Amino acid sequence: MAHAVVIGAGIGGLTAALALARKDWSVTVLEQAASIEPVGAGLAVAPNALRALDVIGLGDEVRKLSAIQGQSGIRLPAGRWLSRTTAEDAAARYGDPIVLLTRSALVDILAGRLPQGALRVSTRVESVDPATGRVTVSGAAETIEADLVVAADGIRSRIRSALFPAHPAPVYAGVTSWRAIVPLPGVTGASETWGRGLIFGVMPLAGGQVYCYATAAVPAGLRAADERDELLRLFGRWHDPIPALLDAADPATVLRHDIHCLDAPLPAFHAGRVALLGDAAHPMTPNLGQGACQAIEDAVVLAERVSPHGDPAAGLAVYSRERLARTTPIVRRSRAIGRLTRWRNPSAVALRDGAMRAAGWFGPGLALRQGDQIFTWSP
Ligand SMILES: Cc1cc2nc3c(=O)[nH]c(=O)nc-3n(C[C@H](O)[C@H](O)[C@H](O)COP(=O)(O)OP(=O)(O)OC[C@H]3O[C@@H](n4cnc5c(N)ncnc54)[C@H](O)[C@@H]3O)c2cc1C
Repeated sequence: MAHAVVIGAGIGGLTAALALARKDWSVTVLEQAASIEPVGAGLAVAPNALRALDVIGLGDEVRKLSAIQGQSGIRLPAGRWLSRTTAEDAAARYGDPIVLLTRSALVDILAGRLPQGALRVSTRVESVDPATGRVTVSGAAETIEADLVVAADGIRSRIRSALFPAHPAPVYAGVTSWRAIVPLPGVTGASETWGRGLIFGVMPLAGGQVYCYATAAVPAGLRAADERDELLRLFGRWHDPIPALLDAADPATVLRHDIHCLDAPLPAFHAGRVALLGDAAHPMTPNLGQGACQAIEDAVVLAERVSPHGDPAAGLAVYSRERLARTTPIVRRSRAIGRLTRWRNPSAVALRDGAMRAAGWFGPGLALRQGDQIFTWSP
């Protein structure tokens, strides 16, 4: 049986392992962490990713976790809506709403379906030989032989740097981010509120929890003694339910990360027997909520294109071509939206908000059409 080694047990690596196992690959997943514990944050899974999850039989399980109701859209700090739509509008257009869930819920679903014994934790990959598929693991004398290696080792991918050493590393996108899951029953409707260089997102989850995220255009590397206090300082006077959410947040659970992305696309998503996937291949800003969704797409396309019978080279070249064409415009668009959110100049912000409001006047159809190219994808 052909053997695939997947490096990294994030959403991309786990989905790839499941998709390959369904295509008769024997799969080993190597994860450097001692256990799979995703960051305590939420995730938006869009209709395109739900369709990809259908291929591995998990779409409906994820759909069941959807808790979104009411209006969703973009607001101003005082509460006024710039554009809005509903989960029903999205479902009517794309067949599905965007499902909001915790990262751990998705990771549990994926990890729970791995073949017995496929996951090896506390196993850090040091290097891969793309010509032979030989994988060297840190601290172990062994090397692991693979017919196919899937590098799903995230934004700081050492495999990407090894395969494309001349390619520039991800750069700071100009914003820092905060994330927290807050218990606050009664919040309905997802919203993203745009201020001057600031964003606050509210995403209701199942079980009376709310996933909150925020970004601020500040220099890289800044940290506050108490990040919840910092959020209160920046957003504590914004519209309801933002102050109540910040009051209810446990300061110990507020995560802060600077956002990085790759400025120029890689020349390819493969070399020899190695495929790059997810953030290892195309790290993007979170503005379109597509990083994990694209990793899920990558995984099912890879398993479709690369056959366990024979040389993977031809299939990998097709995978690379298709996924570069699909992800490059999404990375660019996400970055462009990210730039708009960094604007601070009051006149520029007024123009930006006016344009969004004008688009909103044409109703939910226009707002949704912006997503057509991304959300209508099917495997
Ligand atoms: C603030 C924020 C909000 C976001 N919101 C969304 C959203 O709503 N929807 C969405 O689709 N996306 C979103 N994203 C993007 C999404 O989180 C990422 O694109 C996605 O998690 C990438 O998954 P991955 O599997 O490629 O990488 P990762 O999740 O980074 O997984 C990589 C794994 O590889 C392991 N690893 C690394 N190196 C090695 C090694 N040498 N050996 C062994 N193991 C190794 C790591 O420990 C890790 O477990 C968001 C991102 C941010 C920052």
